[in-house]
Amino acid sequence: MLELVGTPAAPGMAAGPVVRIGSTRRRERLRRAASDELSEIGNAIAAAQAALAVLMESVGDDEAAGILAFQMALLEDDEITRPLAEGIAAGAGADEAWSKVMNALIADYEASEDIYFRGRAADLADLRERVLDALTGADAETIAPGSIVVAEDLAPSRFLATDWSGSGLVLTRGGITSHVAILARSRGVPLLVGVGPFELSDACEALLDSHEGVLVIDPDPPARERFEHRRTAHEDRARADRQHLATEARTAAGERVRVMINVARPEELDAIDPGHVDGIGLVRTEFLFHDRRDLPSEEEQYRVYRRIAEWAQGKPVTIRTLDAGGDKPIPGLTHDGESNPFLGVRGVRLSLERPEILEVQLRALARAAVLGNVKVMVPMVAVPHELDRVRELLGKAVHDLRTAGTEAELPPLGMMVEVPAAALAIERFDAAFYSIGSNDLLQYLMAAGRDEPALASLSKPGPAFWRVLRELCEHGTAAGREVSLCGDLASDIGSIAQLLASGLRTLSVAQAALASVKAAVSRV
Ligand code: PEP
Ligand code: MG
Repeated sequence: MLELVGTPAAPGMAAGPVVRIGSTRRRERLRRAASDELSEIGNAIAAAQAALAVLMESVGDDEAAGILAFQMALLEDDEITRPLAEGIAAGAGADEAWSKVMNALIADYEASEDIYFRGRAADLADLRERVLDALTGADAETIAPGSIVVAEDLAPSRFLATDWSGSGLVLTRGGITSHVAILARSRGVPLLVGVGPFELSDACEALLDSHEGVLVIDPDPPARERFEHRRTAHEDRARADRQHLATEARTAAGERVRVMINVARPEELDAIDPGHVDGIGLVRTEFLFHDRRDLPSEEEQYRVYRRIAEWAQGKPVTIRTLDAGGDKPIPGLTHDGESNPFLGVRGVRLSLERPEILEVQLRALARAAVLGNVKVMVPMVAVPHELDRVRELLGKAVHDLRTAGTEAELPPLGMMVEVPAAALAIERFDAAFYSIGSNDLLQYLMAAGRDEPALASLSKPGPAFWRVLRELCEHGTAAGREVSLCGDLASDIGSIAQLLASGLRTLSVAQAALASVKAAVSRV
């Protein structure tokens, strides 16, 4: 038995076989006659196609299905099959020939003038690995429900493509406010980060307790018994918290606190009753831009925003303009090779550098604002000019749409407060509302990367953060503008009392934390 300690990044408990991903060492293949190599690569391609078909059935959204369909089509493309057969006929092994063809294609895509072709290179690399796995019998990356997944780090897109039912995730690196951690919290997937590298034997079992921050590999019977005991206690608490789900959040003294939710993908809303929330405090729109060949059109974006606004039934829906960059790179869109992406061209900086992309988003938002209580929020604002420029573009979008006979409304324009320069001079920003992004504000205040596990303790709120928060709330009250907090701190049960004491009355939380946050408010 081996016991490892990490930083809890999303609470929960899971037990099951360990699946290590991203580190598969493929077994050496013995090269055989060309005809055998050809038939083996044919089988591997067929296996990859079958796996993609199963995935396509289960993803449930058009966008993800489109990515998989692209990969399936490539497997039959002449551009791949012909040089592959030629390579094998010339004496290369199936794996060698396949890698060569795919590497050349990936290099072509990467060198393309068209940024969206460049963006597809990652899909090709994914396909290359999938077929190599099938060829060498390495299928360690298949994640069955009820597994404990161990990886060094995980891309948010990979996280989203996985069915996490009954599973837990352990990152040997990773940070508590990284985007994969945010997704894990919102979906209730237990996550432990910063465990550090460790060796794993084949076919081991593990118990993950990300309340306590412990991972036990190959547990003995007493460890299993303790785990089950704790699991029952947590389930009892969760059941008690769920009593608060359908009621408005109020403190013990009866003061009303608005509890909204954060949304990373619209499908998440299918499982939530709008009657349980005070609105949506943050829609991260990055999902619209991930893993695709082209940019999302105005019509496509409008349909998504309309779906969210209609779901909310008149309650506020705060949609954030694209916040790509930092640890959310979008291949082909964000800058490659920045020395520090968190201090780079991300959020509104990128949107203003590419106004043609922002304009499409603003037009779609202005159209959706006709249908519901839509608010628009700008990420990473550091100087007033950035907000002013977005306001001009939003006004122009409304004007142009109306001139062309399309219905449009001017939605309230607010800002994320997540850059210290904005937080410390908030009176200079003419925003309709302010939403504090504690994930970024903390990392920039403390000079401690949100994805750096070694600095997890520095990323916790301290006196500087609480002072800034108090002053922001005071400014909001004086100016009559709403101040909310949509960073992950709002979902941290242990911080609720201090958030309210600092003056906040609106929180936007991870969906999985909705009941426990309402319960925590009632205890304040
Ligand atoms: C934040 O920084 O707190 C925030 C909500 O934005 P994101 O986590 O998407 O950067
Ligand atoms: Mg942020």
